[in-house]
Amino acid sequence: EIMQSEHMSDKTRVSYEAYQQAKEVIPGGVTANIKYFDPHPIVMKEAHGSRLIDVDGNKYIDYLLCYGALVLGHGHTAVKEAVNEQINQTGTFIFGSPHNLEYEMARKLVDLFPGIDMVRYTNSGLEATLLSIRLAKAYTGKRKVAKFEGHYHGGYDEMLISVNPDLDEAGEASTPNAVPESSGLGKEDLDNTIILPFNDLEGTRRILTERQDELSAVILEPIQSGFIPADESFMKGLREITEELGILLIFDEVKTGFRLTVGGAQSLYNIEPDITSLGKVLGGGFPVGAVGGKKEVMNIMAPDRGKDILTAGVKDDVKDDIMFHSGTYNGHPVVLAAGLATIQELEKPNVMQNLLEKTNLLRQQLELLYKNYSITMQTVGMGSIFNIIFTDYEIKNYRDLNHANMELRKQLDYELLNQGIYTKPMNRYSMSIAHTDEDIQQTVQAHERAIKLVLGR
Ligand code: PMP
Repeated sequence: EIMQSEHMSDKTRVSYEAYQQAKEVIPGGVTANIKYFDPHPIVMKEAHGSRLIDVDGNKYIDYLLCYGALVLGHGHTAVKEAVNEQINQTGTFIFGSPHNLEYEMARKLVDLFPGIDMVRYTNSGLEATLLSIRLAKAYTGKRKVAKFEGHYHGGYDEMLISVNPDLDEAGEASTPNAVPESSGLGKEDLDNTIILPFNDLEGTRRILTERQDELSAVILEPIQSGFIPADESFMKGLREITEELGILLIFDEVKTGFRLTVGGAQSLYNIEPDITSLGKVLGGGFPVGAVGGKKEVMNIMAPDRGKDILTAGVKDDVKDDIMFHSGTYNGHPVVLAAGLATIQELEKPNVMQNLLEKTNLLRQQLELLYKNYSITMQTVGMGSIFNIIFTDYEIKNYRDLNHANMELRKQLDYELLNQGIYTKPMNRYSMSIAHTDEDIQQTVQAHERAIKLVLGR
């Protein structure tokens, strides 16, 4: 029914034409595969606060928020001002040499995140997890890495495994197979990444114990896909096992950083990972990533390590040991100015609290609405991100999602787009401080209209 016409609806004709044009010079008309959806993506023109406006002039309440990055909503004044001020005061966009904002942001992250003593910057979350993993390999001298089934850490060969695998290829739940997520991956890639079962401490312990001599690190999203939290006992157990086995623990807080507490999931769980990967909110809407960690780990990339004052050089035997990390745009001053302004907003009294309360209010109201229509539904999440899952089965990991009614979700999501609620179909909901109570009411009303239209009630 949804796919009857070529374009999504009469309302999105200009989007459809823009997509057709883009397709000629951009594969699939999108700059990231994930931004595509059937029958065509919606092309945007403007955005303000909680609202997106597409090229047809349709307005949407935005719950995608650039995949969670825009925690202040679109075009927040404090960020705009910080960016302008940075450029105007320094006369440049980037120095290409050290500058004070690098220190300021690093100091902030050290203060906020229990597991962070030192910081290096990257330009994306992908680069942050990649650097985190190289650090673990260099530090431990071991070559392999373990990740959890269903967890996303950016799209490179080592991590493009078992993110969203078909269950008929994925094997036993407690010993998941490594399933490639892309063409171009080979057997050696699958052999280098060990797949673990999320929220299954015994399964995880067994695999880690068997592979301890090869494993440099375990990487995880403390909250899978931003909405399935690790059990507290699982998290505690994982920290203990990894420490026991000499495997580093990497928290990928690209999504969770600044969205549960300002200091990320590690503050909430009260667990110190050895290495933390950050991104998204940290850049205030500009491209960013960062890696933080314990001093002894982080310092293996210090180029001045082993410097001899008498010869004023780095000793040759130490030089060979220094781990490489570089990047033209690392620590970009405009990006860090935007990020610092964002964090400052979040640190103001009650801001984070209000964001969490608003998210909970929307969740409660949606749950109530679906209950009134006798539709089995739960919201799953923590902090300012959640998802809508049509099952009452308890959701603890990737495989549990298989119990949900995905077809209903899909039909509702397309109707919700039509009703002015923007999430990429099947995506989670992220909230921002720009979302008002009125937005919440309108969202709930749009859901009610969608239920009536899709289910004919
Ligand atoms: N890790 C996690 C947990 C993420 O959610 C993402 C992005 N969705 C990444 C890493 C990759 O970040 P980026 O898209 O900035 O490369």
